[in-house]
Amino acid sequence: MTTYDTHAHLDHLENLDQALSAADQAGVKAIVAVSMNLESCRRCLEIKRHTTQPHIYLGMGMHPSDANPADVDAIKDLAREHRADLAVIGEIGLDFWYKWVRKDQVKKQEQRTVYRALLELAAELELPPVIHSRGVWRECFETAREVGLSRAEFHWYSGPIDVLKDILDAGYYISTSPSVAYSPQSREVIEYAPLDRILIETDSPVYYRNRDTGEEFQAEPKDVFRTLTAVSELKELDPQEAVRQFNQNAEDFFGIAVEDL
Ligand SMILES: [Zn+2]
Repeated sequence: MTTYDTHAHLDHLENLDQALSAADQAGVKAIVAVSMNLESCRRCLEIKRHTTQPHIYLGMGMHPSDANPADVDAIKDLAREHRADLAVIGEIGLDFWYKWVRKDQVKKQEQRTVYRALLELAAELELPPVIHSRGVWRECFETAREVGLSRAEFHWYSGPIDVLKDILDAGYYISTSPSVAYSPQSREVIEYAPLDRILIETDSPVYYRNRDTGEEFQAEPKDVFRTLTAVSELKELDPQEAVRQFNQNAEDFFGIAVEDL
């Protein structure tokens, strides 16, 4: 079985070379490497330059936790310069999950300024955005619609079902992570979403729980097969059948055919 990891922070992996070769051996043929900020965009570009297997596709963006309006123009210039290497604009979005952020009007406004500017960049470069929307799902969706994007991915979507319904009605995709093995929110979303709108990912190097042992593990791209297995179980599908569908979804969404790699 071969597939993709559609969302990994490769520049945050401690032992990158080992993780890449483990991914390659496990059957991960391509990885979408998303960025957190300007420095992270530059590091991911270097990683892509030095990696042949798996195939690396880039996302340039600014994560809401790193939102800094002063760096937006530099990210825009870098993305325009490297347009041919990019598969997505990401990771971008809003995150009002923590109370201290919800109370901080300046931080919230900075996040909004950066998010909208980078959605506009996605429209300009005709690339889909990868959107982080934790705790502010409705507003993230409405802003993407206002900018007029026809393609978008709501990364690791774990919000309310009414917003999910609107996301799907708009023709957008969602992704899920190894958390789908145990998290009630992730499971509810994946139970509801049709199979042809789901992308699978790891968000490496995030920590997850092993459902059977309860132990924590730090994800790397090869763990996308854990996401695959958990979604297959939940949807009562043969993993072979499921992987065909996920690869088709990734091809439809990113324009990358994993079978041809
Ligand atoms: Zn991420």
